[in-house]
Amino acid sequence: MSFQVFGLPVSRGVAIGRAVLVASSRVDVAHYFIDVAQVEPEIARLRLARDAVAAELTMLKRDLPAEAPAELAALLDVHLMLLHDDTLTGATKQWIQDRHYNAEWALSAQLEVLARQFDEMDDEYLRDRKADLEQVVERVLRAMARGPVGSFAPAPGVAGRDFGGEDPLVLVANDIAPADMLQFKGSVFTGFVTDVGGRTSHTAIVARSMDIPAVVGAREASRIIRQDDWVVIDGDCGVVIVNPSPIVLEEYRFRQRQSELERERLSRLRHTPAVTLDGERVELLANIELPQDAAAALEAGAQGVGLFRSEFLFMNREGELPGEDEQYEAYREAVVAMQGMPVTIRTVDIGADKPLDRMSANELRHEHALNPALGLRAIRWSLSEPGMFRQQLRAILRASAHGKVRLLFPMVAHLSEVRHALDAFARAKQQLLDAGKAFSQVDVGAMIEVPAAALMLPAFLRHFDFVSIGTNDLIQYTLAIDRADEAVAHLYDPWHPAVLKLIAGTIGQARAAGKHVSVCGEMAGDPAFAELLLGMGLRSFSMHPSQIATIKQRVLRADTRRWSTRLQAVLESDDPEADCKDVPARVTASP
Ligand code: PEP
Ligand code: MG
Repeated sequence: MSFQVFGLPVSRGVAIGRAVLVASSRVDVAHYFIDVAQVEPEIARLRLARDAVAAELTMLKRDLPAEAPAELAALLDVHLMLLHDDTLTGATKQWIQDRHYNAEWALSAQLEVLARQFDEMDDEYLRDRKADLEQVVERVLRAMARGPVGSFAPAPGVAGRDFGGEDPLVLVANDIAPADMLQFKGSVFTGFVTDVGGRTSHTAIVARSMDIPAVVGAREASRIIRQDDWVVIDGDCGVVIVNPSPIVLEEYRFRQRQSELERERLSRLRHTPAVTLDGERVELLANIELPQDAAAALEAGAQGVGLFRSEFLFMNREGELPGEDEQYEAYREAVVAMQGMPVTIRTVDIGADKPLDRMSANELRHEHALNPALGLRAIRWSLSEPGMFRQQLRAILRASAHGKVRLLFPMVAHLSEVRHALDAFARAKQQLLDAGKAFSQVDVGAMIEVPAAALMLPAFLRHFDFVSIGTNDLIQYTLAIDRADEAVAHLYDPWHPAVLKLIAGTIGQARAAGKHVSVCGEMAGDPAFAELLLGMGLRSFSMHPSQIATIKQRVLRADTRRWSTRLQAVLESDDPEADCKDVPARVTASP
């Protein structure tokens, strides 16, 4: 039966593929296709892991101390029974044989199928066996991960989006932590759907940076979509169509081809300078998460990196954070890759929906902090870890020996934070001088993403060389809307007059003070705002590489004079979105 699920559109385009349901706790399982020749060795790998777990469980049972409760032995028996049940191992083999999934992926796919069947059982005792099944699968996955090389080692996968003749796949999950989302970059998936998340949650931001269609906040999606269902993801409208009829499918295939043609057309603008009709030059920069993303930035024609979210280097490290040398290598890689163009490295913005350890936003919200977005995040976290902070500052400074580096502090709100951050920077410089390590001049900037910073901008401008407006957080904190919470996503409004006033004020004051100002939040890459931001005086936009061509097209067609007389009226309007549409298309008088 065909049905639709509605969510929030976060990454444009249409994806069509079979659903792969992934439990949040299991996203770290490798997903790749194997060659036909690898099918038998892969099944053998699964068998070896299963036998190892069987031996482990048997031994555990044998060595149970005399005082252990009788239920424990019975439980181990249940686990052994589940382990050998054909619905687990037999069906897992089938995923490997028919779909050419690697063994870990096949096992988690089958677990999802069985978990659903358990959920639907009337008998409470049987329903509770789902937890046992999950534990057994966890043991087998662990056995595969530690398996001796040669016997358990995974087969080399078919990397990237080469389906090797298989059906394309889309990922469906309740929630995926931002760092886990990152691991799917260049993976086999051609689209994403998650139950939770807002338009500018970091999971959505990473999905967008992967330039594949995605819908978040689709609430029930992972519960009602079944493993292997055919799914259409409409990333423009935020709709997911499950098991579409042939006519609907054909319509979406048509739209898919159209959007591919449009992309091709836009990519021809790559080398065209971004200059408005009235001759204003505009700088288009890229937002990146990892040094390797610099390649996509160059490919898209970016004139530099306006935001390197360095925190992604710090995530899922199981307690061990990257040291100075490791960070230096990563920053240097990005700087060298950008071939002399500026690279703006933001110090870690850990916290809120970006926890250090693998944890979904939901888990974080409910288990670890009352309101993490207002807690110890970004510069607050860095200042609370002075050793780590100076280490990062030294690594960034050292990278400046290889090209143009700018340093950016996230979420500053207090002048005391500014003073402490700049003191740490001065100390880091002195330490490098003492150690005889090279570095060059680095401009220092602040992100304006808390209303307090926007409201006291002149004081901030006295301390910084530039500012960058983080509209994602500025909206979150101005409107008191958790950007990762789909329940309030309808109130997350970039057109809100209060938000626009803060942005316009920041751009105007920075320009008047002769300081460089850019926007690096999602609004910079949203074509709906391009002209308004140009009208506010913005000449530097930073966004995902995949959005650069679209924004460039808007810049090329824009005439900033159109806004000179209307901007004030738009800013004072109760409905700026409607008013923006009324701005005349052409300029009739000379400026
Ligand atoms: C922002 O807040 O707009 C921003 C660019 O930073 P992040 O999305 O990483 O919080
Ligand atoms: Mg931010």
